[in-house]
Amino acid sequence: MPELPEVEIAARNLRRWAAGHRVRGTESDPRAARVFRPAAARVLARLRGARVDEVRRVGKNLLLTLTPGRRGGPKLGVWSHLGMTGQWVRRRAGDPPLPARRLSLALDDGARLDYVDMRMFGRFRLVPGARFDQVPDLAALGPDPLNDGVDPGRLFERLKRARLPIKVALLDQKLLAGIGNIQASEALFRARIDPRRPARSLSRPEVRRLATAIRASLEFTLRSFAKIGADGGDADIAYVEENAPNPFRVYGRAGARCPRCKAADVVRIVQAQRSTFFCPSCQK
Ligand SMILES: [Zn+2]
Repeated sequence: MPELPEVEIAARNLRRWAAGHRVRGTESDPRAARVFRPAAARVLARLRGARVDEVRRVGKNLLLTLTPGRRGGPKLGVWSHLGMTGQWVRRRAGDPPLPARRLSLALDDGARLDYVDMRMFGRFRLVPGARFDQVPDLAALGPDPLNDGVDPGRLFERLKRARLPIKVALLDQKLLAGIGNIQASEALFRARIDPRRPARSLSRPEVRRLATAIRASLEFTLRSFAKIGADGGDADIAYVEENAPNPFRVYGRAGARCPRCKAADVVRIVQAQRSTFFCPSCQK
């Protein structure tokens, strides 16, 4: 499932592929009605002729601002969320559609941007006037660790009120936008904090360590995506669960020796129906 780093790569790719370009043609998959709001036909009509001005990322959300086509009018916003299996890929005009292609935007440079989403938990929403701050789901998001940094003082105050285990608390997008299952496990490993501890039991120094670890883990992941070529040219997003080599220190490594203390094996447990990976020896 895409987390902040995967969506950041998608934003960089979309920016490079689409910014400054006009949408010449649009097409959608009739089976993908649930992805679109308003209905796909209206979405496609509004996008036709529009020019992409800006692509931003907030948490796991892609926010596109467009200038509408011939008839003009106020700016048009697009909120794209990749859900569990969504990806944006660039194809040449004549390339056959990939399976699970839900939306296709033909650009004025002859390229085609395809939104592919096997399980269709993704969302593609028009936002009138590009007023993203008026979309409740977006307005509710906490700070974005990459765009806004992680303020240890604020994080401490928020965690102090949370009864949940720290790993589960970190998945709340209202706390920090963009942290998912992988980044939560990785950041807690880096901060040497046991994921099972109640969030409110963390001391100030521990929260400071965690804040630093969150940034470090995100930046490390972005660098490793860059290394495998996910960030650039025609490349696709690489999902770790699929076919890319696992760049993580504990995530997906149950049974392997802890890379830090080497005194125990990495353990997998389930918290709130999601896998957590940690070292029982050096995460306290
Ligand atoms: Zn260890």
